[in-house]
Amino acid sequence: MLERASKRKNIAREARMEWTETRVDQLKQLWGDGLTASQIAEKLGGVSRNAVIGKAHRLGLSSRPSPIKRKMIPLAAVSERMCQWPIGDPGDPEFHFCGKPALHGRPYCEDHCTAAYRRKSENSAHAAANR
Ligand SMILES: [Zn+2]
Repeated sequence: MLERASKRKNIAREARMEWTETRVDQLKQLWGDGLTASQIAEKLGGVSRNAVIGKAHRLGLSSRPSPIKRKMIPLAAVSERMCQWPIGDPGDPEFHFCGKPALHGRPYCEDHCTAAYRRKSENSAHAAANR
């Protein structure tokens, strides 16, 4: 028992509060429920909001869909390094660009590079069929 405790101490040195399995499970649960980091910190107790964010990030939990991130990105905000995949109809007021970080040297993010490639091969398939 003593041995285990000292081992864990070394691992969790970065944080004053130890991330026991139970706490990690709680974090995952609450995070999945869509609670904010500060709400989670409050529920867990003895941990800061930043520690919750940091832990969630290390657990790979930070990629949950955020309502803020999903907000429409105005055209002017789309820089060259952002995905320029058009979403919606250009005449539509909802029209915007994807805005996710683009792959190096590409106009689109990873997802849309794949989509662009697929669309291209579909189009040539159509063209061949219409010939
Ligand atoms: Zn994209």
